[in-house]
Amino acid sequence: MIDGHIHLENGPLTIEYLEEFINVAINKNLKSIQILDHTHRFIEFRPIYENVVNAAKIQEEWFLKKSKDNINDYLKLIKLAKSKKYPIEIKFGLEVCYTSKKEKEIREILKNYEFDFLVGAVHSVFGLLYDMENFSRELLWNVYDTDEIYKEYYNEIIKLMESNLFTQVAHPDTIKLFDIYPSYDLIETYNKIADLALEKDLYLENNFGCYYRYNHKDPGLSKEFKQILLEKGVKIMLASDAHIPEHVGKNFELWK
Ligand SMILES: [Zn+2]
Ligand SMILES: [Zn+2]
Repeated sequence: MIDGHIHLENGPLTIEYLEEFINVAINKNLKSIQILDHTHRFIEFRPIYENVVNAAKIQEEWFLKKSKDNINDYLKLIKLAKSKKYPIEIKFGLEVCYTSKKEKEIREILKNYEFDFLVGAVHSVFGLLYDMENFSRELLWNVYDTDEIYKEYYNEIIKLMESNLFTQVAHPDTIKLFDIYPSYDLIETYNKIADLALEKDLYLENNFGCYYRYNHKDPGLSKEFKQILLEKGVKIMLASDAHIPEHVGKNFELWK
């Protein structure tokens, strides 16, 4: 099995820290892992967060804590890791915080680098982060109409997929994480995303993060979304979204 989404985010960009993740993956008999970090870790990507930073003071504070490393340190780590021999395959990439408003800037910055894979993620709606325990309800969920939030989220997912910038779509239905749902049926949206994934040859993630970090009932995709993807033969990438070594391959036994 492959774990397609593992973050170094909470530790240093060193080979010793990376090897803690590799060792867990070996112990769990994974054949391949994909290491990534959010673009918000790297100062080179600051321009793409302009709207998020300007939307609310608390988001600016959040961002300034995250945006601290130089991407060259990550590139050096990748080079070193690729010079070593490990008993499993290790790929390196980024989880890019996509917004259509900053697509041009994202494209420009990404041109400077070459990665094994690139995951596109929607983490904000109307410039507001939707998944923060301490402020997303106050900034977004209690202010905007739920249907509008869902429509905007999925519009952004579709633009992300149409951008041809990515190889994989992060947690494609994670907007449900607080168990707040729209009044309209999402089946048509799921079908559209499935068809687009086939057309663009993109992996869609079954990301377990919501399940074990936010206690959402779904171990990844909703039952309906998963069924549509499987029926249409869309490529699915299992993703622990690990932020610590112990979470590599977490909950993969729930995938059937
Ligand atoms: Zn994400
Ligand atoms: Zn992630």
